[in-house]
Amino acid sequence: MKPKILIIEDEPAITETIRYALETDGFETHCLSSGMPVISLLAKEAIDLIILDIGLPDINGLELCKEIRKAHTLPIIFLTARADEVDRVVGLEIGADDYVVKPFSPRELSARIKAVLRRTQQPAVAAPSNQAFQLDESKRQISYFGTPVELSRYEYNLLKILIHRPGQVYSRDQLMELAWDEPDASMDRTVDAHVKNIRSKLKTIKPEIDPIITHRGIGYALKEDL
Ligand code: CA
Repeated sequence: MKPKILIIEDEPAITETIRYALETDGFETHCLSSGMPVISLLAKEAIDLIILDIGLPDINGLELCKEIRKAHTLPIIFLTARADEVDRVVGLEIGADDYVVKPFSPRELSARIKAVLRRTQQPAVAAPSNQAFQLDESKRQISYFGTPVELSRYEYNLLKILIHRPGQVYSRDQLMELAWDEPDASMDRTVDAHVKNIRSKLKTIKPEIDPIITHRGIGYALKEDL
């Protein structure tokens, strides 16, 4: 099975260079020249990784990444043209897995893709690591060791983010960005308050386990070996 790479880039020459290099390296490619169609494409195609240009005609790539992250955890590598964009990719922690600055060599991009896929594609480990939690997105319901947990809207959003990537450390800013409709950096403490509530609710179900790890000064992660 060839890994499927989605290239979202509005400059045809760059798209073509990337497409050629990746197909030569054994990847299957899909190409989009604007951002918004990605949402419907992801609903019907099993894409393994997205290469996402930041400067798109219809939506900023950083905003698009946030949209994608609401429903998908697949790895995303950004193409950036400017140093200040790199600062935003790295600083905002919007869920990028890597970035490449233009102009780049297709060979370098291909190597980055392979590295990210190696790092993120561990189905044998990832699947059982989540056994403690069951997520039903259509009902906005999370169960913990088989017991449904009564969660508020933001508690649900937060826990869902943590469940999607066990072991990944999320900063408070990042959780705020991902879980809140109108993120407000000054409300940093709100994340702490919600995590505290989630913990106490989970504790009533399994008092002997605390599945959420606090990384002091940084943020939170879900325990990997649950
Ligand atoms: Ca562009």
